[in-house]
Amino acid sequence: MAKQQPVSTERRLRDELRNIDDAIAESGQSAAIVELDQSSVGRVSRIDALQQQAIAQAAGERLKLRQRKLEAALARLQAGSYSICCDCGGEVERRRLDADPATPFCNECAAEREKP
Ligand SMILES: [Zn+2]
Repeated sequence: MAKQQPVSTERRLRDELRNIDDAIAESGQSAAIVELDQSSVGRVSRIDALQQQAIAQAAGERLKLRQRKLEAALARLQAGSYSICCDCGGEVERRRLDADPATPFCNECAAEREKP
């Protein structure tokens, strides 16, 4: 039997993925409500509604990005390649994984990617 961790990595990933799924469902709903409002309100409110819709869409995109990252981390976990950097193939630091269990890169490669 494998050594039990207080909260397993898989559990953390699955919990967050479930929250994201809920949030995506909610953001889809609020975008639909905005569309409904648009037909029955004046011009200023319509601009507000469009802005709100753009904000909701941007939030939805971020959520979907995070969802893909979490799914990829779960896939790596199942494939046995979790904690191996997707770029250099080295070990991802424990501290990075604790901070974000879905991170696919080691410190060095992540820093490299953040450069403009
Ligand atoms: Zn790396």
